[in-house]
Formats: sequence, C-alpha cells, structure tokens
Amino acid sequence: MSSKANFPAPAAGDEVLVVGAGVIGLSAALRLLRDGRSVRVIDRSGPGAGASHGNCGTITPSHAPPLALPGTPWRALKWMLKSDAPLYVKPRFDPALAAWMHRFLRRCNARDAAEATRQRAAILADARQRLEALIDDERLDCQFRASGSWYVFRDAAEFEHEQQLAVPLRELGIESRLIDPGDALRLEPSLREGIVGVIEFPGDAQLRPDRLVAELARRVTELGGVIESSADLRRVDASRQGVSVETSAGVRRADWLLLATGAWSPALLRPLGIKLPMQPGKGYSITWSRPELAPQRPLVLAEASVCVTSWEDGFRLGSTMEFSGFDTTLNRVRLDALKRGAADYLHQPTGGELREEWYGWRPMMADDLPVIGALPKHPRVLFAGGHGMLGVSMSATTAQLVADHIAAREPCMEASAFSPARFA
Ligand SMILES: Cc1cc2nc3c(=O)[nH]c(=O)nc-3n(C[C@H](O)[C@H](O)[C@H](O)COP(=O)(O)OP(=O)(O)OC[C@H]3O[C@@H](n4cnc5c(N)ncnc54)[C@H](O)[C@@H]3O)c2cc1C
Repeated sequence: MSSKANFPAPAAGDEVLVVGAGVIGLSAALRLLRDGRSVRVIDRSGPGAGASHGNCGTITPSHAPPLALPGTPWRALKWMLKSDAPLYVKPRFDPALAAWMHRFLRRCNARDAAEATRQRAAILADARQRLEALIDDERLDCQFRASGSWYVFRDAAEFEHEQQLAVPLRELGIESRLIDPGDALRLEPSLREGIVGVIEFPGDAQLRPDRLVAELARRVTELGGVIESSADLRRVDASRQGVSVETSAGVRRADWLLLATGAWSPALLRPLGIKLPMQPGKGYSITWSRPELAPQRPLVLAEASVCVTSWEDGFRLGSTMEFSGFDTTLNRVRLDALKRGAADYLHQPTGGELREEWYGWRPMMADDLPVIGALPKHPRVLFAGGHGMLGVSMSATTAQLVADHIAAREPCMEASAFSPARFA
C-alpha cells in the first residue's frame, strides 16, 4: 500500500474525489477529512443508495471464515436445486459469472480457506475496535451495541460443523463459547424449543446501518466535505499528477480519486487495467416495528441462514445470496423464505408494522478478500470495495488504509493481500 515509490507525496489539503456514498466511500471521506484534506463525494443516486442501506447491521469478526470452504461445493449444489434455499444461481449464459464460479470453486480447499480466514480475521478484528472508537469519537447516533452475537442451531451435524470452524478462530483471537439449549432458552426467551445449541461470539456487535450511513454523511458535511448526489461517473482520466473524471453532472478534477462503487465496480475498473472478479450477490431484508419478544442480541439462524437484528425502533430479518446479475425484482419466494426460516426458531418471527422490504447487491469477490489500495497503472487512483458480506464490519479499517496511503504513512495493518495488483 505504500505510495512512496513513484511520485512525490502530495501536500496536505489536496482534494480527494470519492465516488460512491456507501459505507465504504463515506467512511473513507470522513477519515480523509480528519487528515485535513478537502473531500468531495459523488454518487449517482445519493448516500446509502446501495448495499449499505438495508443490510443486517452486524459487526462480525465471527464471519472470518470465507464462503469458499472445502465443503461449500456440495452444500451449494444441494441448495441450488431449491428456489427458496439460502443460495440461488439463476441459470443463464454469463461468461463472467462462469469465470467467477471457476475461480471461487478452485479456492474451496483447506489451505486457501485457512489463509483467507487469517486475512479476514486480521482486518475484521482491527475494524471492530476502530469502528467502535469512530462511533464514539464522532458521536454517530446509529444504535451501536457491543452485543455479541449468537449462532443458533437446530441440527446436531450443523452445530458440530460450525464448532470446528470456531476452533481456528479462537487461535486468531476471536473468542466464542458454547451455550446449551436450556441456558439458551432461559437467556433468550425469543427462541423456540428444538434448538440443539448456540455458539456465542462475544466480540461481535450491531448497529442500525441506514443510521450509520446518514450519520457518516452528516459528519462529512459538517467537517467541510461536499456530497454531490445524481452524479454518475462515466469515465476516468488519470495521470501521475491528478485525475479528471467525467460524470453526468459535469467534469470533476482531483489530486486523488477513490472508487468505492460497490457491486458496480468491475465495469469502471476494466479501462483502468484491473479485471475484478466480482459478482453482485443479491440479498434481501424485511424490516418491521419491534415485536414484544424481540431477540436481545443479533442471531444467526444457522440452518436457515437467516440473520435477525433488533434495534430500539425496529426488527429485521435478512440474508440469502442470489447470483442473478443486477436483477431488480423483489423476489417474493426469497422474501418468504426469510420468514419461514425464522419461524422455526423464533416465537415471534415477524414484527408488528411492516416498514420495508429491500434488496441490495453485495460486492462478492471470488477470493473472499476485500480490495483496497492504489491501482498499479494509475497510482493516483485508489479502489476500496469487494467486502462481500462484511462491508460494514470492515469499513473503519478500509478507510484508515485509504487515508494512510494518501498520507504516505505506514499502513495501520499489513494489507498486501488486499492489493488491487492481484487482478492487474
Ligand atoms: C442482505 C444483506 C445483509 C448484509 N448484512 C451485513 C452485515 O450484517 N454486516 C456487514 O458488515 N455487511 C453486511 N452486508 C454487506 C454490506 O452491506 C456491503 O458489504 C456494504 O454495504 C458495501 O458497501 P459499499 O460502500 O462498498 O457499497 P454500496 O453500499 O453498494 O455503495 C456503492 C455506491 O456507489 C454508487 N455508485 C456505483 N456506481 C457509480 C457510478 N458509476 N457513479 C456514481 N456512483 C456510483 C452507488 O450508487 C452506491 O451508493 C449485507 C449485505 C446484504 C445485501
């Protein structure tokens, strides 16, 4: 990530243009403003238009194991035969998806999985502390709670499998403990009989993601940053001195450009010499007013692959992973699958008043690692994205790495595994 090699370090106060006002772009903008830079954020819609709005809002070092595990291909094959399963691949001719799948399946082995777990655990652990400090320092009103999380099981084999995954996590500093069914039902009255056990991850946390985005945007503006909505990035011209971009709202120039464009990034990066193996991984959520028996901490309903988050003013079921390109339909079968899945575990699987049915596209990398850093052929252009299911969880450290690079500081953590150079 060091920028010292090829060109002089820019003076403080240089302008940074951030494209993408999701949790990644806004976190980076705020961190850069704190470094004294002038920052403009543009988005083709507005803050929180993408995946950062309706996600589950869990901060989960516990999710360090990647999707690409040795058993994943068999599990995926079983799921793909059911239209309401947690994973769905829409059958179609799509060479980019086929190449992504090929790359992903090649990584479903013990060695790659262990290495990805190590890299993901490192950034997740750093980001967990950094995010809490950021929320505190900037007084971001986003209902953050250091709640821990529970992974709840109804199937003994699944419980056993997940316990195996928790062992290497403990060695990486991610603590967990087992809770037997009796204690679980006593401590969490929202749960129904029939569970076989719980794994608790006390280091996890939760927040309200739409509030986080709104609060980041508020602080960016208060600190003098500019947020411009309805500006669609069309073309980038980059030199060693700076960057000029063409948008639907006119040309914008800057000393540095940060692309934080979520699942839409591959087409923007291709002309800049990066072939990003990223697919939009569509997920859904349903939000209600809070039911009386709302869970006291975020729950992962393991076999159903449903995440449950309750806030002071709401209750959300979310998840599912659908590879259907940028399909914009709100698939009723998949929304209903969230409710059906939750009904097996919870006395009150839905809330009172329906507030929102939502989908978003996760930026899914074939190697399960985020992409953070400068582009090899365009050292004034940085990319930060590809966080898949963990963009909120990894946001604070991503922002710090971006700011460290632009300031030519030592990076806050060893981050060479996240470099865009791996796709140049
Ligand atoms: C159902 C679901 C549940 C999830 N739960 C969690 C969770 O509990 N915890 C967690 O950590 N993560 C979770 N995630 C993942 C998380 O939401 C994403 O990783 C994260 O939001 C990605 O942030 P981003 O800023 O990279 O992208 P986005 O939020 O998608 O933002 C990208 C922005 O770029 C803009 N943009 C794109 N192209 C252009 C262009 N050409 N010009 C201008 N603007 C452009 C878009 O309008 C958008 O606003 C979940 C995701 C889903 C779908």
